[in-house]
Amino acid sequence: MRELRDDAVVLRTYKSGESDRVAVLWTRHHGKVRVLAKGIRKSTSRLGGNLEALAYVDVDLVKTRGDFYIARHVAHRERLVTLRSSYGRINAGYAVVEVVDAIPSEDVADEGIFELVARVLLTLDDEAFNPALVPASFYFKLLAHDGSEPVVDRCVNCERAGPLVAFDAQAGGTLCPDCRSGTSISPEALLLVRRILGGGLAAVLREEPPAGSGEVMALALDAIEAHFGRHLRAARSTPPLAPPSVGR
Ligand SMILES: [Zn+2]
Repeated sequence: MRELRDDAVVLRTYKSGESDRVAVLWTRHHGKVRVLAKGIRKSTSRLGGNLEALAYVDVDLVKTRGDFYIARHVAHRERLVTLRSSYGRINAGYAVVEVVDAIPSEDVADEGIFELVARVLLTLDDEAFNPALVPASFYFKLLAHDGSEPVVDRCVNCERAGPLVAFDAQAGGTLCPDCRSGTSISPEALLLVRRILGGGLAAVLREEPPAGSGEVMALALDAIEAHFGRHLRAARSTPPLAPPSVGR
């Protein structure tokens, strides 16, 4: 019997059989794990509320037969009340955990990814930060973490410093007029990507979505999809800008 105690983010849950659910977790020290929650769909289930998507939890798990763990204890690390009070924040969170779930790394621990996604949840839970650019920022940070940070300070083909007029996710960054491929990029969007990747993210997220935000979201999504080679549904369905908050 293998026991596992760790902190974790719940990426998603899905139904299993009549009354069970499986929760897919990204743990700090053990990578992605699947937790089989017996009877979690019954209203009396004690663990039910704690293993929802986007929960940030402490878990005490025991490995069962096969690939599943069962939960002995689950507790919220953070309640994330502000995150859960707004569709915009929830959708931004889904657009992030979907990408984490797409990382092909069962049983491979990556604490850096855990730190990134946990920070996203805390950011989305803070009213000081606008959620609109959180997924795009996360995609760029994740690419950087994977050693695939896009080049945005020169032409990725000929190294010229500028002007830079296009962005090509397959080529790995920005391009000059002579080398251009991919989609065109405005000066505002270029500046915004440089701020996000260059340490200015917190300031960016404190603003109303700046000029070029829509472009940057599309570029980030192209880049992360090119990286993983798949189409991301939740990320694509995220409303482009500032969806209305819901009361609570
Ligand atoms: Zn060039």
